[in-house]
Amino acid sequence: MAGTRFSSDRWIVNTPEEIVPIKPVKAGDDEVALYEIRRKIYPRAVTGVFANWRWALIFLTQLIYYGVPWLTWDGRQAVLFDLGARKFYILGLVFWPQDVVYLAVILILCAYALFLFTSVGGRLWCGYACPQTVYTEIFLWVERKIEGDRLARIRLDAAPLSAAKFGKKAAKHGLWISIALWTGVTFVGYFTPIRELLRETPSGLGAWEAFWILFYGFATYGNAGWMREQVCKYMCPYARFQSVMFDQDTMVITYDTARGDPRGARSKKVDIKAAGLGHCVDCGICVQVCPTGIDIRKGLQYECIGCAACIDGCDQVMDKMGYPKGLIRYTTENALAQGLDSRAMWRRVFRLRTILYTALLVVITIAAGVSLYLRNPLKVNVMRDRGSLAREAQPGMVENVYRLQVMNTDATPRRYRITATGLEGIVVIGVEQPLELDAESSKMVPLSVQAPFDDEGDDGDDDKRKKKARETKDHGDRDKSHQRSHKIAIVVEAIGDAKVSRHEETSFLFPR
Ligand code: SF4
Ligand code: SF4
Repeated sequence: MAGTRFSSDRWIVNTPEEIVPIKPVKAGDDEVALYEIRRKIYPRAVTGVFANWRWALIFLTQLIYYGVPWLTWDGRQAVLFDLGARKFYILGLVFWPQDVVYLAVILILCAYALFLFTSVGGRLWCGYACPQTVYTEIFLWVERKIEGDRLARIRLDAAPLSAAKFGKKAAKHGLWISIALWTGVTFVGYFTPIRELLRETPSGLGAWEAFWILFYGFATYGNAGWMREQVCKYMCPYARFQSVMFDQDTMVITYDTARGDPRGARSKKVDIKAAGLGHCVDCGICVQVCPTGIDIRKGLQYECIGCAACIDGCDQVMDKMGYPKGLIRYTTENALAQGLDSRAMWRRVFRLRTILYTALLVVITIAAGVSLYLRNPLKVNVMRDRGSLAREAQPGMVENVYRLQVMNTDATPRRYRITATGLEGIVVIGVEQPLELDAESSKMVPLSVQAPFDDEGDDGDDDKRKKKARETKDHGDRDKSHQRSHKIAIVVEAIGDAKVSRHEETSFLFPR
């Protein structure tokens, strides 16, 4: 292990220079400080199975994050959230404000996936994929490359300022700021086409774009470079409520007290049974590699982000001592209490809670997929023109005026035929036919609809019609044929694609 000291056949516990001084709380003897003074943590580098998994996920998530804005689709950015135009582009799909339901579905899916993974494997998200973990790991990697591992960093921080120290610190912060700014540019690149953004940078940048690049970059630099574990401990709400998703069969990173205690430094050759010792050599490696600086041997703590660095660190110690691995491991409360083997423990992954979450995830995913597949790219909205009353446009014909909004959310231009149904002899006039719309565009057009008077009223005699209407009112007749309002539908059909059509219901009024 890099930086691990193994002297002859004994592990050495922290040396004095590794102990970071804690400043005394100046709150007075009788007072308890409200805020804990931060003890700077210098996590030791660690390698192992879980470290490899974490790096694999860092590569994957960052490849997606930094790479996706550069993908193109049909001549435009493949994923673009164009807030100005109120359109979201995801590959071949265009989402409009009316499609906000899909955003809700994505959030619900994320929530259920988080519930599922947490109830199965504890804080998997925090330990492997959370941006705070990912960027802290990247920033730590830069720090180690420039300043060295744990002990070298402790010594450098304790040393007086010199040209070498200044150079290292400047190089580290320069690299951190570069990564943070690039992260900010990428973030804004999801909302403004990234190629245009870079062409504009820095002189032609809009105020909002500049603000968000700096804000996001500053947040990345501050959270991953300076705040680190404090974000998880004090700012993240998930750490506080995750325990409600845990049960006795949730896998958490646990120190096996029965096997490890009593702890103590010993020679590799010592007979631990005769010496009355457990497997823990009390080397402190599990604490030194921990990014939140906790001692997992004290039990499950809310500060534990589930990164499994202590498992990798301890496994290496166990290897060197010739003990079996897994003194610190993923296990469940029930497995420890009942001595379950790993097969029995894995069987308990399938329990009511996880089956329910999985079923909900599958159902919502299928429903959203089907709905997306069947999504109608034509959206129509009909509004009665309240400024214009129903009137007799020509003998025997009543005219109503509407405002029709037609939206083509498709990536291809379309032509539409507009008709009306619901009354015999009803016709649409006063609108261009066919109505032509460019790709991803909408049009608001005035629309006149004419229909003959209904049978009993349409005798061409105004006085009789008015008399009939009065009689109908006087006798409280609610027969639909004598009501003033009729339900009709405005039909908009794409020419050449019968599947793309809309029937929008509205009312047609007859004058009394
Ligand atoms: S649990 Fe493992 S890593 Fe931690 S002190 Fe004991 S032997 Fe060392
Ligand atoms: S205790 Fe172990 S798993 Fe938890 S944060 Fe520390 S190193 Fe990671």
